[in-house]
Amino acid sequence: MGYESLWQKLGLDLEAHEGLLNGLGKVYEQVFLAQKNRPQAMEYFDQVVGSIHGARVEELFKAKEESRLVVGTFCVFVPEEIVWAVNGICVGLCAGAEVGFEQAEELLPRNLCALIKAFFGFKLARVCPYVEICDFLVGETTCDGKKKAYEIFNSLKKTYVMHVPQKKDEESLKLWLNEVRRFKEEIERASGREISVAELKEAIELINRRREALNRLNELRRADPPPISGLDTLLINQIAFYDDPVRFTTKVNELCSELEERVKKGQGVCPKGTPRIIVSGCPMAIPNWKIPYIIESAGAVIVGEESCVGRRNTRNLVEVSSSTVDGLVENIANRYMGIDCAIFTPNVERAENLKEMVSELSAQGVVHYSLKFCDPYTIEVHHMDNAVSSLVPTLRIETDYSQEDMEQLRTRIEAFLELLK
Ligand code: SF4
Ligand code: SF4
Repeated sequence: MGYESLWQKLGLDLEAHEGLLNGLGKVYEQVFLAQKNRPQAMEYFDQVVGSIHGARVEELFKAKEESRLVVGTFCVFVPEEIVWAVNGICVGLCAGAEVGFEQAEELLPRNLCALIKAFFGFKLARVCPYVEICDFLVGETTCDGKKKAYEIFNSLKKTYVMHVPQKKDEESLKLWLNEVRRFKEEIERASGREISVAELKEAIELINRRREALNRLNELRRADPPPISGLDTLLINQIAFYDDPVRFTTKVNELCSELEERVKKGQGVCPKGTPRIIVSGCPMAIPNWKIPYIIESAGAVIVGEESCVGRRNTRNLVEVSSSTVDGLVENIANRYMGIDCAIFTPNVERAENLKEMVSELSAQGVVHYSLKFCDPYTIEVHHMDNAVSSLVPTLRIETDYSQEDMEQLRTRIEAFLELLK
């Protein structure tokens, strides 16, 4: 089905956009479709990627015609329940490819993490329909790079910024609760609707169900052999950020039912005894698949992602037991303050959570993954490594979105996997 007229209406650079989609299709074939023993239910997720800027964008377009609010976000700290409560749509926008970097570097320092340069690059190169279709974007004061970059991004697309505190003491919790209340007011203003208790509960349950489905998927990876690859699970976690949550949850649950059958029969995506790895660190936004691809094509299997595109985004649910809107908003604020992002100091929960994942998933190795120039994660790797290096071998990797270091990384990862045999 052709979507050119839609992309044209959104002001995309059609030639650059076509180049991007063609490149993506080739990489997808090599990285995903070439995998062996994939579950049948992955077909749906293949279709979603096959129409990555098509079917879902069309749905968003129709939603806008029905006057629904569409909001873009860059971080799992933005309480999306509030957007869904006004019958709005929330879309995760972080970009995972080296696109438009030259243009981005005219506005930003070269030595900035690839994720920030990418979200500028996708906008400046006019190749992302999701950014264009949003009514506005929601940023957050997490790392310094994003915090300062939003000041510039606001001139390209309206960006509302939430103040995320850097500590988790009582005062910070109060500040955050007020921020969530302020966000609710902003969303109510933008949508022209006042949120009711029933609407907010429904939205909380909607997103809780999506998180529960992803947690069910994660649980199934405890099996040896795991019934699904790390690459496919990462892909599903990436799609979670922009797909329709009802349909997505149904499809993840269907996949889980198939995987349960596989586990019962002892069928897996790789032979029993394949080295089991956890990847821990920075988020991997779509289509950043470099490290998982190298790890799994070198003969290991990833059984967990200690990341925002992984367990950090699904671990905690929002409590629904309150009969007032403000009570529910407080529950939302509490849930989000449980996120163990490296921007917090101290951030002791993260090390505990990683240790728990190592033990629950019977991981045999941890790969610490950081994007170059990401201070919070490259510095915090010190504590994270101290927490787990006495349990399993670990490897520290710092990279970006370029393909230039592929061979060097492959050599290091293969040497690391040799240690696990
Ligand atoms: S790593 Fe931190 S700043 Fe980045 S998306 Fe996750 S919570 Fe947000
Ligand atoms: S990867 Fe690090 S530097 Fe980049 S946006 Fe996330 S926290 Fe900031």
